[in-house]
Amino acid sequence: MDIHPLTGEFLRASKETSFLEHKQEQTRALLGFTLTFCTVFYLGFFATDVAALGWGPAALSLLGARVLVALTAGTCAWLAWRRPLSVRATRLVATIAESVALGCFMFITVQRPAEFHWHAMSLAIMLVVVYLYIPNRLSYASAIAMLATAGFVPLAAQHSAMSFADTLTMGMLLVLVNTFGFLAARRYNRVAREEFRSHAVLKYAAERDHLTGCFNRRYLHYQLMGEPGQEGAKPWLTIILCDIDRFKQINDTHGHGDGDIVLRGFAHMLQAATREPLESVVRYGGEEFLLVLPGTDLGDGVRLAERLRQTFAATELVASDGVPRLRATASFGVASVHLAQAGFTDPMRDAIAAADDLMYQAKRNGRDRVEYLQLGALAQAS
Ligand code: GH3
Ligand code: MG
Ligand code: MG
Repeated sequence: MDIHPLTGEFLRASKETSFLEHKQEQTRALLGFTLTFCTVFYLGFFATDVAALGWGPAALSLLGARVLVALTAGTCAWLAWRRPLSVRATRLVATIAESVALGCFMFITVQRPAEFHWHAMSLAIMLVVVYLYIPNRLSYASAIAMLATAGFVPLAAQHSAMSFADTLTMGMLLVLVNTFGFLAARRYNRVAREEFRSHAVLKYAAERDHLTGCFNRRYLHYQLMGEPGQEGAKPWLTIILCDIDRFKQINDTHGHGDGDIVLRGFAHMLQAATREPLESVVRYGGEEFLLVLPGTDLGDGVRLAERLRQTFAATELVASDGVPRLRATASFGVASVHLAQAGFTDPMRDAIAAADDLMYQAKRNGRDRVEYLQLGALAQAS
């Protein structure tokens, strides 16, 4: 199990960070909403101060405390609505708002000592909000909630007219609220992370080819075809289509197991030479791969293809019996489009079709070659 049994967080820090970053937008919005909501209630409860104490300096001092909370939580909510707020800043904001609200709550309770039964109920509700509704790290929320409980019970013992039995019952009920608040928050943490993990597994399975780990054609059609070249620094799109030469012979000579080793070796070389997520390697067919390179012009595309061709031809892969004896070559077609140039209704599709033709041209010209073309008005056949 990769989830901590006590905190419900991922044990691996990098995984926890990617989970938190994945959730950050939602967390920020939730924090802003919850703090705004709590601020309105905190101010609204001033009506109970007036009902208990009447208009006067005492009620006004409580209004001061409530306004302080409203200002703090309101500022925190405003910060949370703003972009961008890091995971760490979000937690700091939540911690500050929670601490000020509970600190002022203690002050209010002492000013209205006759109502400690009701204060205990209010505290229980606030603890539930701290554990479950204000998004904060569970360890921070627990520390704040337990400190508030530990501060409240002695205040009740000192300032209220409650009997020892009443104070004890109240204290025990608050401990119960803390326990269930903690358990529920831990369960929520765990469920959210399990959902994230399942989502990642499904996403990987839906987008990737099982044998090589490259993207599949579904990913090409639904993700890459949509916005070609949007993330590239330069308005170029280069497509490299490559195919292992005489791969059928490798299968026939060495068997399918060793054929798979060659396929994986080729795919890993392509992946190592590209930078995800800007660039993508797609398994286009059995032993055919597509490199989608936004921001890469023809010159850089051809240099990359040539480097890949030479590296693959010089590589001896370790066969299933442990002996390094698997060698192969590959043929490459490189096609580039200048995205700002008019005349391309679907530059990605045009470039893939051209790279496909060029790859077959490389096969016809003797294999283990790179053929290239610039599409459009700037076109120069190789
Ligand atoms: P060329 O140089 O013209 O590309 O010849 P080739 O033999 O590579 O081309 P051909 O299309 O005739 O053969 C491709 C072979 O790839 C046929 C198929 O059995 C094999 N193949 C496709 N997918 C896989 C796979 O996942 N694993 C293995 N081991 N072989 C595969
Ligand atoms: Mg082939
Ligand atoms: Mg082929």
